[in-house]
Amino acid sequence: MIFGKYGSAFFVSYHVLPMNLLLIEDDAIETMKFQRVLKKIASPHKLMEAKNGEEALELLTSGNQLPDIILLDLNMPRMNGIEFLTKLKQHDQIKYLPTIILTTSENRHDLLECYKVGVAGYVIKPLKFEDYETKIKSVLEYWSNNELVKA
Ligand SMILES: [Mg+2]
Repeated sequence: MIFGKYGSAFFVSYHVLPMNLLLIEDDAIETMKFQRVLKKIASPHKLMEAKNGEEALELLTSGNQLPDIILLDLNMPRMNGIEFLTKLKQHDQIKYLPTIILTTSENRHDLLECYKVGVAGYVIKPLKFEDYETKIKSVLEYWSNNELVKA
């Protein structure tokens, strides 16, 4: 375990390497839930946010620092998750970015479609916050244990 300092309060953080995360999510409540988990686990990760696929693509192609992983919602206005994925895979510079679906959709068609286009994971968000927190924590721990491209 690593002891760190956040503001004036000391916390015990999980032994995870810091990552740049891109959360693509249209629902502000969902984004707040995700931020709440990061805060609760004293996450060392940096969070970028986009409200739909279109905004995410702009962000990824604007020359900004790229995220290490992408967390992607499926149901979004303008450009939904699968449309975004399809576009992402057409971009040589960004198509390698590990993309994990974060959704409430247990729709098998969505799941197959996502794996077909090429996702690194498909995670169904539990409704109960405690369960959601446990799952997000484990996803972040898993990915911080991976070798990432760090472009
Ligand atoms: Mg949504």
